[in-house]
Amino acid sequence: MTEETTTVNCNFCKKQMQSPANSINKKQMCYECFCTKEHTDTAIKECYIEIPQDEFIEEFASTLAQDIVERAFPTLWKTRENTYKDLSTKDLAQELFGQGAYLGIKSFMQTTKEWNEGRKPHARRKS
Ligand SMILES: [Zn+2]
Repeated sequence: MTEETTTVNCNFCKKQMQSPANSINKKQMCYECFCTKEHTDTAIKECYIEIPQDEFIEEFASTLAQDIVERAFPTLWKTRENTYKDLSTKDLAQELFGQGAYLGIKSFMQTTKEWNEGRKPHARRKS
């Protein structure tokens, strides 16, 4: 993915950063400010955040995993608690690991689909 980028200044710390041409009208936030300062969700949505590709993958994966644990796990546990009760620790770990991987891949594909349809996935801060 090669995009035309322009050198701009971070609106928060004034450091130079790269911003793609189609985000030049937004507020700019460098990765350092994204990680170190407190931002509201609204502020994050209004900003172009410069996230290095490797960091992005890391950030995306950890946000996704955290989301799955917070949202999907309680439901999964509630509906299958009785089945899980009889499993050995290893079988239980294997079963849940599998469920986690399945949900992770599913949610990744859904996000990619939304992205391709032009809806930007909700970016969340590391807590
Ligand atoms: Zn900055």
